[in-house]
Amino acid sequence: MYPRLVIDLKKIEKNIVTLNEILNKNGVEMVGVTKLFMGNENIANAFVSGGVNVLGDSRIENIVRMKEDSVKARYMMIRIPPLSHLEIMVEHVDIFLVSEPETAMKIDELAQREVSLIYMVDVGDLREGVFYREAVEEILGVKRKLKKAKIIGVGTNVGCFGGVLPTKENLKMIVDIAKAVNAEVISVGGTVYLKALEEGFLPKEVNQFRIGEAVLLGTDVTGNRNIPYLEQGTVILEAEVIEIKRKPSKPIGPTGYDSMGRKPEFEDLGERLRAILAVGEQDINPSGLIPLDEGAKVVHASSDHTIVDVTEVDRKIRVGDVMRFRTNYSATLRAVTSPYVEKLYKR
Ligand SMILES: *Cc1c(COP(=O)(O)O)cnc(C)c1O
Repeated sequence: MYPRLVIDLKKIEKNIVTLNEILNKNGVEMVGVTKLFMGNENIANAFVSGGVNVLGDSRIENIVRMKEDSVKARYMMIRIPPLSHLEIMVEHVDIFLVSEPETAMKIDELAQREVSLIYMVDVGDLREGVFYREAVEEILGVKRKLKKAKIIGVGTNVGCFGGVLPTKENLKMIVDIAKAVNAEVISVGGTVYLKALEEGFLPKEVNQFRIGEAVLLGTDVTGNRNIPYLEQGTVILEAEVIEIKRKPSKPIGPTGYDSMGRKPEFEDLGERLRAILAVGEQDINPSGLIPLDEGAKVVHASSDHTIVDVTEVDRKIRVGDVMRFRTNYSATLRAVTSPYVEKLYKR
């Protein structure tokens, strides 16, 4: 049945091994981030067999599932934890990323064994973390009060929210803070930090990268590039054609907003051959689909339908045919989490 997501484990394993070797050579440990595939055991085991010892996920459900699936690793909770999740989390999580004294103290109080904390510092992306100017004071204050939990490091995240890129300056900020609070680990993420390594401005003190996208898709969405030494095409979406007709390219009559509250603009290209696929906004992000058919162009989608202009595609497309697409980060994320998309992990 379609739609279906075909995930190439061989390519992903190869990416993991390639990147892990590069990182290790530079004194950097990889944390394998599994959230894109909801903590799927095939992906988790690919990290472990590729030499990665710590797996990071943003959802406790995924971590619990990986443990139930007997994936042998240490587990990092990469989203700063909600207080209401802590009781269950301290049972399963070995390393927490934190940014609130209250949360750190609550983890300390609930922990039955030693747990590690990495204190997040905001160097400008404006998502999680104590703002860099207040970081040293806040971290030292928390450190003094902890009993069972231990602050082993400091961390940053850039790219994901504000789209901030790693720079010499924002890396120096985290290194200076690490020194001031005597942190062993400097943990950075995500994938966009590979640029710093490639371009030679990664400080030698940085010793941990939290990586998902690079090895799972071979891309760096924040840096807007394919990573040249990693493989793309790891994930392919297959969707079925349910209508194929020639129609005008511009809607007829006055227009308001579409089903998603947007006001799409359509260029008048005259009559075009348009395929409707049985997949939509509920399953994918249409702007993140890259057709494998040369000449095909994704026009737009509503919740259950995606329209592809196939006028310039060489093969004859019929009802019942399958079209294939590479998926970017956001399209993959939505497809993985859609219960309507079948997942095939193949080797
Ligand atoms: C998602 C995430 C990562 C991994 O980012 P990628 O860009 O997928 O490599 C790292 N750290 C945190 C805190 C994250 O939320």
